[in-house]
Amino acid sequence: MKNNNILITGGAGYIGSHIAEALVKKKVNIFILDNLKTGFKKLINNKAIFIKGDIKNIITVRKVINDNNITDIIHLAASLNVSEAEKNKKKYFSNNIKGTLNLVKSCKGSTVKNIIFSSSCSIYGNVNGAVNERSKPDPKGYYAFTKYKGEEIIKKYANKYKYKYGILRYFNVAGASSSGKIGEINSSNGHLIKNIAIQSLKKKPIIYIYGNNYKTKDGTCIRDYIHVSDLADIHIKTLKYINTKSKSLVLNCGYGIGYSVLDIIKIFQKNNKKLIINFTKKRPGDIAQVYANINKSTQVLNLKNKSNNIKKIINSAFKWEKQLTKSHYK
Ligand code: UDP
Repeated sequence: MKNNNILITGGAGYIGSHIAEALVKKKVNIFILDNLKTGFKKLINNKAIFIKGDIKNIITVRKVINDNNITDIIHLAASLNVSEAEKNKKKYFSNNIKGTLNLVKSCKGSTVKNIIFSSSCSIYGNVNGAVNERSKPDPKGYYAFTKYKGEEIIKKYANKYKYKYGILRYFNVAGASSSGKIGEINSSNGHLIKNIAIQSLKKKPIIYIYGNNYKTKDGTCIRDYIHVSDLADIHIKTLKYINTKSKSLVLNCGYGIGYSVLDIIKIFQKNNKKLIINFTKKRPGDIAQVYANINKSTQVLNLKNKSNNIKKIINSAFKWEKQLTKSHYK
């Protein structure tokens, strides 16, 4: 991959910044395209070339690709808020579906050989037990639908515009880099581990649990939490794989372990202060349980998953939050 010109759309965001940090070590040229609507300047890697722009503007995207002879694209730019998506479908159609279409169309006749697309386990819908990549997509909410459509677009144009793709279906991403420089800033997505970290820094930390009568071991929802640094590593390994094997790939990105909301809270409380737990009504669109079957990713990519440790994930998120509270970015 040395000397490749890699474009990360949404590279000023939580996951994008971790991918950039991991790529820097690989001696590649990194370009970041981000409109900074939900991304942060603070998260932009100083070894990357930053272009402020929007994927909704096809002229901008074409220019970035052609001016810089981009060889690979890691496409993360998207709107991410599940409940906002239900209220503002237009915005999500335009950012997530139209934006992806623009990106793919801009690859026509270009130097782009590979595209990695950030998809989501939400495309599976309601599932029982570990879900594998062959499971039929059944997206429930509009956000999930936009990710599903994004996958379809990436696949549809691959032969026509001569690129290989890696579709990565993220499970629940959490934690922060051990560098201490980057982590999740945006709190509006309401992620569980982020919320716990935010609350625990307050005098009277309250955590609301959405639903307690799901058909799970303790009535709360079960998810598969993956450390953001391991997720970043999967992007690099996938890119290497599709590039050297000249083969496209669809992969689940999780650890294959399900934790309930109460499990996560209990683990946090063991080493930190107590949280006041308030059970409240179910969050619309939540599914009872989803965790990954990771046979394929383990076999194909030979993953190390260095941070596969829920305590480590929670602690790193907490450490980052403490630091963030001190800075003016909160
Ligand atoms: N959750 C919760 N309280 C919170 C945030 C999340 O009970 O303050 C639950 C949520 O209902 C879901 C799980 O925690 O079952 C993970 O939610 P998150 O928003 O982190 O990720 P999602 O699975 O929705 O992508």
